[in-house]
Amino acid sequence: MQKRDDRLAITHLGEEQSKYLNAVVPPVFMNSLHIFDSMESYAAREDEHAYVYGRVTNPTVQILEEKVAALEEGCMALAFSSGMAAASAAILAVCRAGSHIICMRDVYQPIKNILNRYFIPRMGITVSYWDGLDLNELEALIQEDTAMILLESPATFVFTVTDIKGAAEIAKAHGVKTYIDNTFCTPLYQKPLTMGIDISMHTLSKYIGGHSDIIGGILIVKDEELGKLIQDTIRELFGGILGPMEAWLAIRGLRTMHLRVEQHQQTAMIVAEYLENHPKVERVYYTGLKSHPQAELIARQQTGHTGLMSFVLKSEPEKAIKVVNQMKVFEIGCSWGGFESLALCPLIHYSSEELAFLNLKERDKGLIRIHCGLEGADVLIEDLEQALREA
Ligand SMILES: *Cc1c(COP(=O)(O)O)cnc(C)c1O
Repeated sequence: MQKRDDRLAITHLGEEQSKYLNAVVPPVFMNSLHIFDSMESYAAREDEHAYVYGRVTNPTVQILEEKVAALEEGCMALAFSSGMAAASAAILAVCRAGSHIICMRDVYQPIKNILNRYFIPRMGITVSYWDGLDLNELEALIQEDTAMILLESPATFVFTVTDIKGAAEIAKAHGVKTYIDNTFCTPLYQKPLTMGIDISMHTLSKYIGGHSDIIGGILIVKDEELGKLIQDTIRELFGGILGPMEAWLAIRGLRTMHLRVEQHQQTAMIVAEYLENHPKVERVYYTGLKSHPQAELIARQQTGHTGLMSFVLKSEPEKAIKVVNQMKVFEIGCSWGGFESLALCPLIHYSSEELAFLNLKERDKGLIRIHCGLEGADVLIEDLEQALREA
């Protein structure tokens, strides 16, 4: 059962029906600007927190932001046109030219790409990588000019979990800001701001949207000054606000998120246990399994698990491609968090160096990542059974 306040945030918070002709569902405010009665009221717009222009804010976007801020127990949420727009806004807000960043090794790959292709060569930022495990090692990586620690927990290849509270405490003691990608858990199953994290991020494109029909991202903070910096300088001037239609779809997605993730979790648990007992499967990576090497930490900081997991076969990595090609219900695709089941071999083209960077072995090249959708565990197991048999 989800928390009462979370259920109310999802269903009702932030919605004032009397403002929109008592329509039960808030409309898509599909307007680029708002108009004023007089030049005097236009001049007073900032004092009155008036809506002015769509690149700055939009009423539909604000409803979404209010709901997600409440779910994450933050004071402010800011929605962006993608998860990557949100993530880069966080880095731009916290770092300056020459700053040092500590980044977990298995964060979402495009984060490492934007560090390598932009922040390092263009902004003179330096980066140290951390495996997310040893807190003493994290502390030792902190330098004079360390501005930010980038975390993701659980990360989405082998589902490494980091001690969120421990990392946040170390960062705070050194005046370093912390950022976490909280997408896997959704705002329901993990509340990083309550554990001391400064900025929590979600892509809306996964479970919050939930229907594989939008791209969007959101940052949540508990410090108003930092929130205002992100809003007034980064989002308004770089111009990466979420569109109103996407915000409306994200609100619609949110309305059933607590029901969906519960179902994804239930299905994924059954599928993970099935795979763990399959004679052709070497290892299953899922945060819900008792066999997860960090099960104790997971129990301390997560209240649930969603539908994403990985597994490795006992046979050579190339076999994984055959298994995925043989799947009929699981479609081949790179995202997750929607109604549909998906499969992929995300590491198949990784070089030995790239695998070693992630502390993975040659055999992990054949890692199969699956997202358990809403088709039901019986359907998914039947599909996995035939794929593992035929391939
Ligand atoms: C998809 C994803 C992102 C990026 O989100 P976009 O909306 O595609 O930019 C970031 N983090 C994780 C964990 C993701 O899965």
